[in-house]
Amino acid sequence: MIKAKARAVKGPTDKFESIEIERRDVGPKDVLIDIKFAGICHSDIHTARGEWREIEYPFVPGHEIVGIVQEVGSEVTKHKVGDRVGVGCLVNSCGECEYCLEGNEHYCKNGSVGTYASHDKYVEGSPLTQGGYSSHVVVTENFVLHIPDGMEMDEAAPLLCAGITTYSPLRHWQAGPGKKVAVLGMGGLGHMAVKLAHAMGAEVTVLSHSDKKREDAKEFGADHFVNTSEEKELADVKSSFDLIINTISVNLDVNTYLGLLRPQGTLVNVGAPSEPLSVNVFSLLGGRKSFSGSNIGGIRETQEMLDFCAEHSVAPQIEKITADQIDDAYERVVNSDVRYRFVIDNATL
Ligand code: NAP
Ligand code: ZN
Repeated sequence: MIKAKARAVKGPTDKFESIEIERRDVGPKDVLIDIKFAGICHSDIHTARGEWREIEYPFVPGHEIVGIVQEVGSEVTKHKVGDRVGVGCLVNSCGECEYCLEGNEHYCKNGSVGTYASHDKYVEGSPLTQGGYSSHVVVTENFVLHIPDGMEMDEAAPLLCAGITTYSPLRHWQAGPGKKVAVLGMGGLGHMAVKLAHAMGAEVTVLSHSDKKREDAKEFGADHFVNTSEEKELADVKSSFDLIINTISVNLDVNTYLGLLRPQGTLVNVGAPSEPLSVNVFSLLGGRKSFSGSNIGGIRETQEMLDFCAEHSVAPQIEKITADQIDDAYERVVNSDVRYRFVIDNATL
């Protein structure tokens, strides 16, 4: 086993502390990564606090991982020592089912393996997976992404989750010229959705629950901004959008937002509150509307997204922090006070 430094919580209400964890030895198809940066996703917080499910502690979050290849196994062909690489939310899948073969490893029939709080049943003797708030990680080469030349490593980190989670539904529902796309909630995911939808050529509206982000939204490429706490502003955009990407981390009245769709429009939930959402079918019937969901994206599409961001100069707005600031950063994320993604400098672990 390889020893790695990490920051972990030991229970759902505990603060972060330094611990040492074990990574598996580098197998023939494995890559050992010296982690340089790790983004903080709201999913890290939901998971650390046990809001989605019970997890095993100590728990090391982090699935927006960027680093340098330090060692490769004897059969590795896709990466070499010194390469700039990334790891997102997944570290393995069966690789054989129809979904894996079509590039949708996240829908693996036999179960994909999460970057943290998961057991890798495809690698014998593998310890519980732990995330990127850590000095090193060992990952099978097929789940390691190339960071394109010219892209800053710290800015690449949030793309591995916030980037792909918004890119994938925007592509699936064909955001582009002539399409009116609304982004509901402008935090880590939301601000990436705005930048990506703008780069794809869509007309973009931000739906945010205060006025605080009005100027930033315009800067990120939004054409319009609606403060959803103002009834009049909301009424003005009824039946307006082809696609709404909901990135909000808490429960909301879905029916209000279904009312903002044009006929045949789709509201896609990527936000993942722990409580069920309530949909009135009459919000869907009139106008043949769709209410859908989307979860991260496959490995091939994640690489496509990284290359798209490099080509179109799309980068997140980040605030770099030290490992000692993780607890404060969590509070700020929960209070919608993140501008717009915290990225841990892992040199400070
Ligand atoms: P985030 O940075 O905290 O952004 C969430 C945004 O939701 C906030 O910036 C805020 O936007 C809005 N919001 C938060 N609290 C609110 C409240 N009380 N009332 C109204 N609006 C509120 O979180 P994130 O990292 O982008 O993640 C967002 C959600 O997506 C989380 O639930 C996360 O777990 C989930 N997620 C899902 C996937 C997936 O694959 N589906 C992947 C990653 C994350 P405004 O200030 O603009 O209103
Ligand atoms: Zn995430």
